[in-house]
Amino acid sequence: MSDYTYPLFKDKQWLIDYYSNSILTLKQLCTIAKCCVSTIMRFVDYYDIPKRNIAISNGRQRYKLIPKKELLYKNKEWLQYKYDDITIKQLDIAKEAHCSVGTIISWANKFGIIPRIKRMSDMLKLRYENKEYCEKQRSATIAAISKPEVRLKHSESVKRSWKDNDKRREYLSDLTKERWLDTEYRKFVTEQLLKSAKSHKAYHLFGPDNHNWHGGKSFEPYSHEFNSYLKETIRDLYDHKCFICNKSNSKNNRCLSVHHIDYNKKNNNIYNLVPLCDVCHSRTNGNRRFWIKEFELLLFARKFCMTLGLECEP
Ligand SMILES: [Zn+2]
Repeated sequence: MSDYTYPLFKDKQWLIDYYSNSILTLKQLCTIAKCCVSTIMRFVDYYDIPKRNIAISNGRQRYKLIPKKELLYKNKEWLQYKYDDITIKQLDIAKEAHCSVGTIISWANKFGIIPRIKRMSDMLKLRYENKEYCEKQRSATIAAISKPEVRLKHSESVKRSWKDNDKRREYLSDLTKERWLDTEYRKFVTEQLLKSAKSHKAYHLFGPDNHNWHGGKSFEPYSHEFNSYLKETIRDLYDHKCFICNKSNSKNNRCLSVHHIDYNKKNNNIYNLVPLCDVCHSRTNGNRRFWIKEFELLLFARKFCMTLGLECEP
């Protein structure tokens, strides 16, 4: 300090040393020079000393002193090293570089690094060319499917994937329709179904030996009351829609069938008759006790809705 003349703020060398080349704040300079901030600034102007960055003079030095965060993902070597190591997750790379996974992938693309998806697919292709590996996988899958808990898990995941997935449903439906227009394909499927049915034990069991035998009921004649007039009345009553699934006549491709709820062909009371589409009608052939109860419940709900004046949807 002895080199400086007093008062300090009038000394050009002191101002250069303390104002320009030290990190002391202006307030600290003021206490040393025993003056106010404006005095110091006046002599800085007077000696034409370049001004400090305002941020530093206010003591907020972090703007200047801490270097800007290094953008790791823009460093090709770093990215290549991390990206090539498949054991490191993409999310972890993104976290380390303080960016999103999308940024990592797009910068990897920019640097011409082979995308991970392509690398994985190439790896899988190579793997599945090995017949031994395929056989091993197949037997493992069969073993897994034989466990009921695995089957349940799989079924639930499939259900989840179909929920609210109308686009996929539409696409597949169109695809199936197109396929069924091909007569050869239809022939092929029919043959396959017949083949599998014939391999089933029950196919060769007729009459009382068959599990679906109901005492020869289907051979009983329908009563004369059950004519086309009555059937049409029943269809009218239910607005020409299937009682279970609400499918219309046109969607069923033919007139709706009229079903006897109690399976008694002689009971032609209108409360015992409902119109059904082909799909629902074939479903009602099995598990008759369940269906009788189900229809009772549905009819009750329908009556209940109608008395309240509500629309009854299945
Ligand atoms: Zn139906």
